[in-house]
Amino acid sequence: MKALLPMGLSVLCVGITGCGTGCGAAASSPDEPSPASVPVRSVADADFPPVGNRLELSDAEWRRRLTAAQYDVLREQGTERAFTGRFHDHHEQGVYVCAACGAPLFRSEDKFDSGTGWPSYTRPIEDGRVASERDVTLGMVRTEVHCARCDGHLGHVFDDGPPPTGLRYCINSASLDFVTVRTP
Ligand SMILES: [Zn+2]
Repeated sequence: MKALLPMGLSVLCVGITGCGTGCGAAASSPDEPSPASVPVRSVADADFPPVGNRLELSDAEWRRRLTAAQYDVLREQGTERAFTGRFHDHHEQGVYVCAACGAPLFRSEDKFDSGTGWPSYTRPIEDGRVASERDVTLGMVRTEVHCARCDGHLGHVFDDGPPPTGLRYCINSASLDFVTVRTP
């Protein structure tokens, strides 16, 4: 089933509060902005890049755009420590977007508490947003998932999730940003 964003709604990106120390993978990264410093910005939902709109940047440009923690996860396939990210215990209604390119990836309606310490979802927001690849690193056979727009690493998907899909998209908070959808 295809999940569509509500039409004609404006989207408000808010700073996330309630995050303690140790956000993201490189927990003590000096250039990781504190949650209180994340600026509020408003965008229309139509400003989301459409499916199929690719964003390919040089490694130098990704390093410039991303924090050290974001770069470690998104471009180096890193994994943040459990229970340290911004979103594992985050319950607001809205859309989780790629921290690298802004593409919408997951909806709060599909988020569930997996108890793993990483934000977990039963499915992506819509077809064509999240791509997957077989991953045999660390002596395990897993399915890696990444942003279909910018190839940024997100996490892995497992088949031990709840209904309706039975899937568990186990995602690093550092690879995500959050926007709230506000009715006019
Ligand atoms: Zn992306």
